Amino acid sequence: MMSIVKTGPLMRTLVPLIFLIFTVAADRSLAISADDLATREGEVVFGQAWLKSVRSRLGERSDPFCTDLLETWLTRLKNQFDLGTMPMTALCLNSQEFNAFAAPGGIVGINRGVYLDLDSEAEVMAVLTHELAHLAQRHHYRGLRNSERMSKGTLATLAGVVAAITTRQGQVAQSLIMGGQAADATAALAYSRDYEREADRIGVTALQGAGYPPEAMSKVLHILSRKQLYSPKGLAFLSTHPLGIERQSDLEARIAQMPPVDNGAPVLGAVDFSMFRCIQTESLQVAYGEALDFNCKQVHDILKLYRNERFQDALVLFDALPPATRDTFSGLDIEIALTLKTQNFNRTERAIDTISLFYPSWLQPSIARVDLAIAQGIPKLPREFRDLMARRPERLDLWLALARFALAFKKDHLLFEARGWEALLNGKLEASQTMLSRATKSWPKTLDSRPLDLLEKAIKQSQSI
Ligand SMILES: [Zn+2]
Repeated sequence: MMSIVKTGPLMRTLVPLIFLIFTVAADRSLAISADDLATREGEVVFGQAWLKSVRSRLGERSDPFCTDLLETWLTRLKNQFDLGTMPMTALCLNSQEFNAFAAPGGIVGINRGVYLDLDSEAEVMAVLTHELAHLAQRHHYRGLRNSERMSKGTLATLAGVVAAITTRQGQVAQSLIMGGQAADATAALAYSRDYEREADRIGVTALQGAGYPPEAMSKVLHILSRKQLYSPKGLAFLSTHPLGIERQSDLEARIAQMPPVDNGAPVLGAVDFSMFRCIQTESLQVAYGEALDFNCKQVHDILKLYRNERFQDALVLFDALPPATRDTFSGLDIEIALTLKTQNFNRTERAIDTISLFYPSWLQPSIARVDLAIAQGIPKLPREFRDLMARRPERLDLWLALARFALAFKKDHLLFEARGWEALLNGKLEASQTMLSRATKSWPKTLDSRPLDLLEKAIKQSQSI
């Protein structure tokens, strides 16, 4: 849309004047200058504030392995885009719908439902490169700037609009939309078909650049059009990423022109990806008219036994899997869970060590060591864990692990600290403040108090937005 002349002067007047204010639950209001969205730094500030406001409703899956893997995938892909030093926030979501989204500031979420249909890492990467292309091309900002309705409106619902564009996850979008005008703006602001083609085009080049076959992108579009046929009320992903006949043909013409390039090694090998896929699709319902064309029965049986607390039976079934399946990283993730419950701690340690050897930057092994300490009744926080909490405080799963540890060994000061961060990451500033003062009161005098300073600083930063 070339509406610069039409909306330009108006925007120049409005943008410096209008501040975006949206209320987060019962807590404080967040005010962000719409002007700030024009820069990468501004996108990050906006994105993080937006995430805090919706986080508790996203249906996040606390799955450190999945989060680490998604971070690794995103890091590999990010180098293919002009995204500078933008941080990446990876979210593994629980919904069974086929959907993924990117929000300004490098926030990328993916529903586990996509793994019902995507049967290779390359296809997942195709979805992710498409999403990252929307970010690299700044489609949120451009969409907002070009929207006549937004420029005339109050801009007060920018957050709701972005939520609607990026997620369309039922209540999340709805609850952030305040008033009919915003609903109109939402309709106007789903990615346009031009943006979709642009995201496909830039995404497929990035996909090949990252070492994956570009045909995977075309396969994903085929999957989407097939799902569209079977989905009576429309697919969330397609409501924000409209398909159109020309999208497929444009993409295929482009792929035909791409010079052949050798594929690189994926992060997960084929067997490992299948195992990961089985874990992610546990207990999901197969959509109407479709059939699973992959076999996860034994893994799903293992996980079901685990959920029913029949840990020994689950371990026996796990040990009956072929060694090549058991020895995958996803297999090790299951082995850790099972051996913690059955007290085969030597096996737990070996599995943790193997993952951390291959992926030293992953948080999953450190979190597993906390759960190991709990299972062994050792009331001592693993040494590297404190460093990790200082370095990656945005990772919610770290604080959940600290809370488990604190509850197991009745350490109130750590529980308050963990709950303080949990509240903060969910945008509940007052609750976070309360937890901080309780942590401060119960903090042992002999203990280093720097963790309290960190939390206080983070709360202050959130208040200043
Ligand atoms: Zn799209």
